[in-house]
Amino acid sequence: MSARRYDAAILGGGIVGASAALELARSGLSVVLLERGVCGAGASGVNYGGVRRQGRPPEQLPLSLRAHAIWARLRDHIGIDGEYTRSGHLKLARSETEMAALLAYRHRIAGLGLDLDILSGNMLHDRFPMLGKDVVGASYCTDDGHANPRLVSPAFAYAAAKAGAEVRERTEVTDVERDGSGFVLQAGGDEIRADYLLNCAGPGAGLATRAFGETVPLSSGYPCLGVTEPLPPLFAFNLGVEGGGFYARQVARGNVVFGGGKGYALDDRSCRPDMKVLMQTLRAGTAVLPALRQTHVIRFWSGVEAYMPDRNPVLGPSATTPGLLHGFGFSGAGFQIGPAAGAVLADLVRDGRTATPIEAFSIQRFTQAGQTVPAVAHS
Ligand SMILES: Cc1cc2nc3c(=O)[nH]c(=O)nc-3n(C[C@H](O)[C@H](O)[C@H](O)COP(=O)(O)OP(=O)(O)OC[C@H]3O[C@@H](n4cnc5c(N)ncnc54)[C@H](O)[C@@H]3O)c2cc1C
Repeated sequence: MSARRYDAAILGGGIVGASAALELARSGLSVVLLERGVCGAGASGVNYGGVRRQGRPPEQLPLSLRAHAIWARLRDHIGIDGEYTRSGHLKLARSETEMAALLAYRHRIAGLGLDLDILSGNMLHDRFPMLGKDVVGASYCTDDGHANPRLVSPAFAYAAAKAGAEVRERTEVTDVERDGSGFVLQAGGDEIRADYLLNCAGPGAGLATRAFGETVPLSSGYPCLGVTEPLPPLFAFNLGVEGGGFYARQVARGNVVFGGGKGYALDDRSCRPDMKVLMQTLRAGTAVLPALRQTHVIRFWSGVEAYMPDRNPVLGPSATTPGLLHGFGFSGAGFQIGPAAGAVLADLVRDGRTATPIEAFSIQRFTQAGQTVPAVAHS
């Protein structure tokens, strides 16, 4: 029976928990990353791979811009490039109403550090001839892009281990409690003690919120994805339609990865794509990219993702328990911001504060607990 004490125990080895582990280990703190499966095999590893700031609500942009800077030095940070490319992100309008939504979004985020070009008519179709005639306009963000989540997310955990974090896979945390001076976790038959507990468990985050009296409206959702056979080069950018019914990117091997709509749960840890939804997605997709009409789709899949009702994550200190930090509920868009969310959690452990604005992500917006929690002293 191990009873080792760590500065921080991290529940969940997705991109958020692994990023926090990496940052903390590099700061010289002792950290254990506890993952019930394999690191990066949940939503973080099966997602679409969109690395975009465009479309995020204004309150997410500071976090997203911090992540953008981490993505820029990905190879130095985690040891691989993860097929990350700054290909541009093109958001398409298929009606005047959707065009108005794109313009309204650009207005809403003006001055927040994200430049968007609005294109329409011949200017759009001359520049992007692969688009169907239903597309009336677009908003283009030059520096957004895409990456391979199956490579990137596990690499955060490998990098954390290399930096000195103890990474324990196939280790399910079954109980968490506070014993006065820190946290005690039951994990894979071991008892683990830590000054800080980082709750980065995605859809499993309810274990730690319930244990400390912070029940939140966390639910699971199951975005549907598919991939075509390899095709000749069609487009380099990451593409999405306003409203979210279709998004796509073409990888260097030629396959087009696409998504839209939601699948269904088999149980709390597994899910399947919904074929009717996928047919709707393909109809929307072939209208904006007619070249996809004659292609074979070779695989469909879905993944379990943690959602909050306002589609913002819970990121920051617990409202009830000193030393408990939450980072979950990324609501279908945590791959791009995950590296920065982990860095924010590491700031909070190391410095007791972060320069990145996270007030909008406070758990108190759901719990209304409202009390101030005393800071934790490092052991
Ligand atoms: C199909 C799909 C497409 C998506 N597309 C995009 C996209 O294009 N761009 C984007 O930005 N985002 C996208 N997302 C969202 C993004 O993948 C997630 O928001 C992000 O990966 C969340 O990271 P995480 O670390 O919080 O959670 P997760 O990756 O879910 O990791 C949480 C981990 O905690 C572990 N865990 C849970 N309970 C326990 C326990 N009791 N003990 C031990 N371990 C536990 C789980 O096994 C899991 O590995 C998509 C998501 C899905 C599902």
